[in-house]
Amino acid sequence: MKGYAMLEIGKTGWIEKERPVCGPRDAIIKPLAVSPCSSDVHTVWEGAIGQRHNMILGHEGCGIVDEVGEFVEDFKPGDRVMVAAITPDWSSLEAQAGFPMHSGGMLAGWKFSNFKDGVFGEYFHVNDADANLAHLPDSISPEEACMLSDMVPTGFHGVELADIKFGDTVLCIGIGPVGLMAVAGSNLRGASQIIAVGTRPNCVEAAKFYGATDIISYKDGDIAEQALALTDGKGVDRVVIAGGGVETFEPAVKALKPGGKIGNVNYLGAGEYISIPRVEWGVGMGHKQIIGGLMPGGRLRMEKLAKLVELGKLDVTHLITHRFNGMDKIEDALYLMKDKPKDLIKPVVVL
Ligand code: NAD
Ligand code: ZN
Repeated sequence: MKGYAMLEIGKTGWIEKERPVCGPRDAIIKPLAVSPCSSDVHTVWEGAIGQRHNMILGHEGCGIVDEVGEFVEDFKPGDRVMVAAITPDWSSLEAQAGFPMHSGGMLAGWKFSNFKDGVFGEYFHVNDADANLAHLPDSISPEEACMLSDMVPTGFHGVELADIKFGDTVLCIGIGPVGLMAVAGSNLRGASQIIAVGTRPNCVEAAKFYGATDIISYKDGDIAEQALALTDGKGVDRVVIAGGGVETFEPAVKALKPGGKIGNVNYLGAGEYISIPRVEWGVGMGHKQIIGGLMPGGRLRMEKLAKLVELGKLDVTHLITHRFNGMDKIEDALYLMKDKPKDLIKPVVVL
């Protein structure tokens, strides 16, 4: 079969591979739509997780079940399915401990375009099919389902990590598609003031649609100073980091009230260390928590998030700015994600 792959760090191209083999609990999926992610860009062009050779890229998609293993109970060939970007081994000890995304080792629940071929192929393999697939409701289009694969669950996980509560003041650093979903999730959780950090006009407009009350730009100066100015110098209760690099932790800590929480879902592609400002971190005693996490994945989460879309509580269509048709357009869509033109939020390729 054909697939669009990372050939090595900095190089991509089309390759031929064997169709994946279906184990007894697995499924083989024929994609209906796929979407490239900023994470693919970190992986290929920053070499952020190290060298990979001839690995099919992509982890965001939905499709039609082509084959299932003998122990798969709830899915059969022909079913339309959503697939989360993270596909843990649900019987692992890490999953039992509450961290399915780290099943088998740190970040090892993230298999597509990390430890195995991803979704930019004619077929792709899903482990633990009963736990990692979800039926795609008729009212949700394949392109919307792609947003439910990673952008929605990751942005919302940032909100979970920051533990956003009714009336909280929130700073959301980054309003690409992930940050936009963090804004939407904060809004659904009842945040009051939502200060979004971003510059691209499409993203700013979408951030307002999803509930941002204030927009600031890191290009206009220090994020913390701007956030403090918008909160009468008091700071914010919660921060979600969904963009920028290792340097964002400093303004995040500075803008945060004592007792506040920072949830990071940003994939830090470069830099050796994150520096935390000593004084603003309460000289070590400020009760300012920082937690970073990969989104958990799983069928239950996808079904619940899809329900928000089905019932009109979450509209993911504002994330999709570029639409392509046909597998050969995957390359164009990925390069769009790499080059980030000003009018881009998220591209989707319908196959
Ligand atoms: P994006 O590039 O579209 O958006 C990044 C945002 O950050 C933009 O709004 C940009 O203006 C802002 N930004 C850039 N530099 C900044 C700076 N110095 N200070 C403040 N803001 C800055 O990215 P995206 O597609 O929304 O993805 C966001 C991140 O989430 C990526 O790193 C991606 O790899 C990661 N990600 C993580 C997971 C997970 O499970 N944790 C899943 C998917 C994606
Ligand atoms: Zn992704």
